[in-house]
Amino acid sequence: MTAKVIDGKAVAARIRGEVSGRAEVLREELGRKPGLATILVGDDPASSIYVARKHEACEEVGIASFHHEPGGDVSQADLTDLIARLNSDPEVDGILLQLPLPAHLETEPLIAGIAPGKDVDGLTPYSAGLLATGAPGLVPCTPRGVMELLASEGIDLRGKRAVVVGRSTLVGRPVAALLLAADATVTIAHSRTADLASVCREAEILVAAAGQPQLIDATMVSPGAAVIDVGTNRTDEGLVGDVDFDGVREVAGLITPVPGGVGPMTIAMLLSNTVDAATAAAQA
Ligand code: NDP
Repeated sequence: MTAKVIDGKAVAARIRGEVSGRAEVLREELGRKPGLATILVGDDPASSIYVARKHEACEEVGIASFHHEPGGDVSQADLTDLIARLNSDPEVDGILLQLPLPAHLETEPLIAGIAPGKDVDGLTPYSAGLLATGAPGLVPCTPRGVMELLASEGIDLRGKRAVVVGRSTLVGRPVAALLLAADATVTIAHSRTADLASVCREAEILVAAAGQPQLIDATMVSPGAAVIDVGTNRTDEGLVGDVDFDGVREVAGLITPVPGGVGPMTIAMLLSNTVDAATAAAQA
């Protein structure tokens, strides 16, 4: 069997189109565009590129974006104040604090200070709690992107065996919670899992989010499985996923490439979360 390759760029483009339509309706209703505020601290080049891409994407779909760059030596108190100001700014529907932060700052209290209704990255403990209890709320972007890719293939997750490799709060845990909410039977594997290969072979849906280049090979995949590769690893050979794409492609039923799979979905879901937040605020 040669797997069908899921085109994340195409799915992301469709979602951006839908977001653009919803943003236009909101602009007419609210008399302003939905707004996303981004905060960038420090001079991490990758973070600067990610934030610039997010602004370009906002522009494309009709979301206003407000950039704040308070300086690499900003204090915890000043950054807390900035977040508090954005929480009460009526033009701002979503707040994104670009991570990682410089070492002198404590990340968790800053994230926790984002108003739940504006938590478009879905990273506050409040959003995590909603997700853990199966209640509706803002969901982290990459995990939501994984679910959209599965939905784009019309996969009914009910009763399916799903294995998520990785248990981070950013990716693994929220993906597992979403799969569970969709009635899959979910196993979470991690670096201490015994016999990862046989755990993975049980999966009809396999999500790799370990950050280990080509950790998942063809012997670890059940024939016909849907394999979603979240991994983004920079190596001498370029960007590679957590899945040995060429080998696994011969066994799986569906597979996402890296790049061009989950990656493009993350920004699309950020845009979608921003419009969701603006819609919820307008209805409140
Ligand atoms: P973390 O490093 O925070 O978490 C990695 C997880 O994988 C941990 O739970 C770890 O287990 C587990 N793990 C590590 N090695 C192994 C192994 N050999 N076998 C089984 N499990 C293992 O990473 P993130 O969750 O933040 O990111 C995961 C990957 O996804 C990275 O490559 C990252 O770059 C990528 N990513 C891609 C995004 C995109 O837009 N495409 C967005 C976000 C992330 P333990 O808990 O025991 O340490």
